[in-house]
Amino acid sequence: MIIANWKMNGSKDLIKQWMDFVSQNIEINPSKTCIFCPPTCYIDFSRNLIKQCSKDIKLGSQQLDFESSLPLTGGTNSKMLEDLGCDFVIIGHSEQRIYLNESNKILSNKLIKAIDMNLKPIFCVGESLQQKKASKTKDILTDQLSAIPSNLVNECIIAYEPVWAIGTGENAEISYIKEIHSFIKESLKNKINSANYISVVYGGSVNLENYKEIYSSNKVDGLLIGGASLDSDTFTKIYNMS
Ligand code: PEP
Repeated sequence: MIIANWKMNGSKDLIKQWMDFVSQNIEINPSKTCIFCPPTCYIDFSRNLIKQCSKDIKLGSQQLDFESSLPLTGGTNSKMLEDLGCDFVIIGHSEQRIYLNESNKILSNKLIKAIDMNLKPIFCVGESLQQKKASKTKDILTDQLSAIPSNLVNECIIAYEPVWAIGTGENAEISYIKEIHSFIKESLKNKINSANYISVVYGGSVNLENYKEIYSSNKVDGLLIGGASLDSDTFTKIYNMS
C-alpha cells in the first residue's frame, strides 16, 4: 500500500491539480492500495474529486479525536470520518503524540472507536533520535505497541516512522528498517499468539531516490509518504514503479 500523508498542507486548488494529474497517470493495482490523506477540512472535497475520476483511490483521515461522552468543541469522531467516506485513519503520528500529548490510553480509545466504525487504523510508532542513540528503540516500540488491544491487533496496519527520519531527508537504512519491521511483526504475533500476517509500512523521508530499495524488502508492506507525496508526479511515479 502506498499512502500520501499531506499533513497540514494544501488548498482546494492544489488538491484538485494533484487529483487531476494522479487520476490520469496512476495505474491502480488492486493488490497495492492507494490511500490519500488530506487535511480533515478537505476530506469531503477530496472524496468528490475521487468520485468524479472513478479511480480506486482510498481516503484516509490524518487524525481522529479522543471520543468520550464529554463534549469536545472542534472534535472529529469516527462516525463523522465514516460518514465522510474514509476507509483509513492515521492514529498515533509522532507529531500528534508530541504536540497533543497523546498517551497510550488515548490511543487505545482511538483504535477501538476507529475499528468500531470499520475504519482501518494506520497506527504509527517510532523512536526519537535520543532514544535511538540510547539503544532504547525496541523498548519504546514495545511500549507504543502495547496501546493496541490484543483483540484488535489483526485489524491494524502498523506504520514504523522513526521520528528522526520524518521530514529530515534522512531515511533509515534498509538493514535497520528490516530489523525493526521484523521486530514489530514478531512482537505483535507473540502478543496475540497467532501466525496471522501483520502489515508494517515504512515512513520517514521516502522519496524518488530511496523508495525502490525500501519497498523491495519483503519486510516492508508499504510506504507512508509525507513531503514527497505533495508532488503529483513524484507520488504517481513511486506508486506506479514500486
Ligand atoms: C510523515 O509525516 O508521516 C512522513 C513520513 O513525512 P516525510 O515523508 O516528509 O518524512
